[in-house]
Amino acid sequence: MIAGIDLGTTNSLIGVYEGGFPSLLADNDGNRITPSVVFYPEEGEPLVGREAVRFRSLQPERSITSVKRLIGRRIGENGTEQISGRKGAPAVITIGDRVITPEEVSSEILKKLKSLAESRLGTTINRAVITVPAYFNDAQRGATRRAGELAGFTVERIVSEPTAAALAYGLDRLADRSKVAVYDLGGGTFDLSVLQLDNGVFQVLSTHGDTQLGGDDIDEAIAVLIRRKAGIKEPSITVTSRLKEAARTAKEILSTAEMTVVRLPFLEENKSLEIPLTRAEIDEASAPIIRRTRSLCLRALQDAGLESADLDQVILVGGSTRMPLVRSFVKEIFGREPNLSQHPDESVALGAILQGAILEGNLQNVALLDVTPLSLGIETFGGLMNVIIPRNTTIPAKAGEMFTNAIAGQGGMKIVILQGERELASDNWILGSFEIPFSPSPKGTARVGVQFSIDADGILQVLVRDTSTGAEKILEIKSAVEVSDEAVEAMLAGSLEHAFEDMDARIFTEARLKAEEMTPSVHDALAQLESEIPEDEVASILRLTEEVTSALGSKETKRLKQALISLDEATQGLATRLVEKAMRT
Ligand code: ADP
Ligand code: MG
Repeated sequence: MIAGIDLGTTNSLIGVYEGGFPSLLADNDGNRITPSVVFYPEEGEPLVGREAVRFRSLQPERSITSVKRLIGRRIGENGTEQISGRKGAPAVITIGDRVITPEEVSSEILKKLKSLAESRLGTTINRAVITVPAYFNDAQRGATRRAGELAGFTVERIVSEPTAAALAYGLDRLADRSKVAVYDLGGGTFDLSVLQLDNGVFQVLSTHGDTQLGGDDIDEAIAVLIRRKAGIKEPSITVTSRLKEAARTAKEILSTAEMTVVRLPFLEENKSLEIPLTRAEIDEASAPIIRRTRSLCLRALQDAGLESADLDQVILVGGSTRMPLVRSFVKEIFGREPNLSQHPDESVALGAILQGAILEGNLQNVALLDVTPLSLGIETFGGLMNVIIPRNTTIPAKAGEMFTNAIAGQGGMKIVILQGERELASDNWILGSFEIPFSPSPKGTARVGVQFSIDADGILQVLVRDTSTGAEKILEIKSAVEVSDEAVEAMLAGSLEHAFEDMDARIFTEARLKAEEMTPSVHDALAQLESEIPEDEVASILRLTEEVTSALGSKETKRLKQALISLDEATQGLATRLVEKAMRT
């Protein structure tokens, strides 16, 4: 078995080709993404990934981030600005009295990924395909290979990241001489590569980028914005790093939500901050950074001797391309819709896995031709469509999600499998349904995993498993991929035509669920804190809960959302007081 590895500047991933599918492997907590951070304690083995991140704020001088900028570099070259030493000597890192090479640091990350994969699969894995940026020179590629060998791998191939991504997007099946632009905006770097397909193999026609431009810069700009809104004049180092952490979280939330509240408990002199932040605000702060990618894109196109109209596809790679603003920028730069069919932060690793499978000869006979004509998902509590495999995903494909019980003591869950593009479950087509029983447990504690996999023949298998009992059920559906063109067109037309009302219905349903959850718990908290809250505060909270109930009755989405926000704000203190009360008694 050959593992595929995306050894990233910020994040790294590993996976294997198994049972006809490329799959990324997660650690024991379910994380498929491992931060590329290594912490060297004064004694003992280095820590890698999330564990290292935890120590980073305590002893930043003993933790190493972004080592990829140094691998295969000599002092004086790009990326080595922080390192002192004789010009032209290989870059090394000094921690205490230890001198560590970038290869060694990278090998620690690779060892961590190796052991994660081995414990997942229960076998040893000795072979790997590792990806590197298209602009890496021979020295950088060689050093990456040595890092792999130090970690105990036979490195079967070093592959360029954009090529791997294009493979994951299934673009090797485009017509010969097709041209693809790969826009990769990660945590600390940006690259734009132009590829051309020649006899089924991607050639890199040109690549341009900036090794100091990425999500980190966006986080910093948002941190400044939060600081300004909070009126913090001269933040200490800890405050600065907490602001940046909060900025990153808010940024990621705002890729799907329109607004969020940044909560910073006990920031300065025990003051806690709550700063509302909207998508529009962070867009304004990050636009100047994102705009810097434009000239690099144009230069790469120019180097390839192409215009955007010559491109057959534009694909997105890197976690930062999850930001809607980045997507609209890309659309504007290239004058076309980017292909959104893969997870941008997983596609490089997926491609590395596929490359491994090709080297092993596992992929030869598979007819990898189709994409899902419509989205596939399940109905969730409240009657909404929850997409598991989006429309236009290349098959074979596999994806899953965890669900929990919405009601305490629920003895089972009905799984309804849906196909279509509408927000409300009832507007989509039902492909099948079944019931999975689970042991009754308090609300939100059952863990039910739902996994969809479509094999190369287009057969959908739905696997549902109650993780506490191990009980599972499998349903096979043959009609998930074969849908007549007319039916697909009718579904797409319907989803466009009803886009606004559908969105409104979804937002209303989500708000309704929140209202139904919040109102009783507010009453409950008030009852418990009875004598401790001033009467006028109780009265005003009660008034706000009544407004929620009446807004719910009025079916007006905006009013309901506003009522919930007000109630949320007014009741922020209740939870803290409940905790304090519990501590006293
Ligand atoms: P790299 O290739 O540099 O190792 P990734 O492709 O994993 O890194 O990108 C990491 C960056 O993506 C981080 O800056 C992170 O904040 C950002 N990111 C991840 N998820 C989201 C999201 N949902 N919205 C916006 N940015 C995101
Ligand atoms: Mg990357």
